[in-house]
Amino acid sequence: MKINANYLNLKQSYLFAHIAKKVAEFSAANPDAKIIKMGIGDVTRPLCSEVVSGLIEASEQMGKAETFKGYGPEQGYDFLKQSIADYYAGNGVQLELDEVFISDGAKSDLGNILDLFDADNTVLIPDPVYPVYVDTNIMAGRKVLFMNANESNGFLPLPDESVKADIIYICSPNNPTGAVYGKDALKKWVDYALKNAAVILFDSAYESFVTDAELPRSIYQIEGAKKCAIEFCSFSKTAGFTGTRCGYTIVPNALVSGEVSLNKLWLRRQTTKFNGVPYVVQYAAAKVFTKEGKAQINENLAYYRENAKIITDTLDKLGIWYTGGKHSPYVWLKCPNGMSSWEFFDFLLEKGNIVGTPGEGFGQNGEGFFRLTAFSTKENTLEAMERLTKILG
Ligand code: PLP
Repeated sequence: MKINANYLNLKQSYLFAHIAKKVAEFSAANPDAKIIKMGIGDVTRPLCSEVVSGLIEASEQMGKAETFKGYGPEQGYDFLKQSIADYYAGNGVQLELDEVFISDGAKSDLGNILDLFDADNTVLIPDPVYPVYVDTNIMAGRKVLFMNANESNGFLPLPDESVKADIIYICSPNNPTGAVYGKDALKKWVDYALKNAAVILFDSAYESFVTDAELPRSIYQIEGAKKCAIEFCSFSKTAGFTGTRCGYTIVPNALVSGEVSLNKLWLRRQTTKFNGVPYVVQYAAAKVFTKEGKAQINENLAYYRENAKIITDTLDKLGIWYTGGKHSPYVWLKCPNGMSSWEFFDFLLEKGNIVGTPGEGFGQNGEGFFRLTAFSTKENTLEAMERLTKILG
């Protein structure tokens, strides 16, 4: 046998392991230090009670012969697809139920979707970026080009007509930068994709953090997007499903390559390689869209938003440049006093006992920047920002 040698081209994913090692060494040397972690991209608020009741109800149904469910439709139950379609309709986007595919989270489908595309395609990925986009393409041996996200474009790069790409990744609101594309900027990407017969893989995992009605939550709010974009979304950050696992992918019927429907290819791929998300999880996910469910998840989202505001207010006071924090749980700041990402990491850990994520870990353009997240507790966020003010003030 021969292995897929492309795996050997992957860079060691050392970022979070390296952070953990540095924190462990610091804790061992300073056992009394109260370390505040603001580097994690995982949620901390528990599942809301409406979702928990849904998990219990569905489990009880599974224990009775009359309501027991075996294999379900690979692409998800209609009740959840309908709730998602209704949610999109609220944002002015009409979806057919067969355009919605339920997944066990955005990460799996972001990787799996590449089954539909030839290895020869050229891929365009922003730098800095959520590392999954790069690594899944390296595994498939695809050529990756990077678009420069930087301070001068507010970490929201626009298409460069001289670059020819077939597969384009856009994540908005963005991880790690928290930057959000406006409708006009997104329209430029849609126009570029249509002109170049390219596909946009649009990651909207953080759409629920958008509060400004003028900012797009879905790429399908942009005219023409159904002909060129696939959208990936998730209940992970919206409703605390990081450990429960549920998401969805939209493949519009209007998206074709020549005569071939990508929706039909994806259906074929899913029905062949996937047996669906557990009924219990889908039932609970549908509860997110009930009146009570919406109110409850909004409380959690408001909690994170308040943390983000505590962080951005502090940075404003300190005169530190940043993106994000307004429609995103991530705040992406420029390291003060010209420090590199890792210098600032060490400085924060040693002087403030605060842990964040060095921007350099998300790509070359992240050097000199740093990610803080709003997923900590309010008490810890307040204390961390007091410490930051003290050490930088
Ligand atoms: N997309 C982005 C940009 C993310 O940051 C994450 C998780 O952190 C995911 C997708 C993965 O989400 P899921 O938990 O649905 O797999």
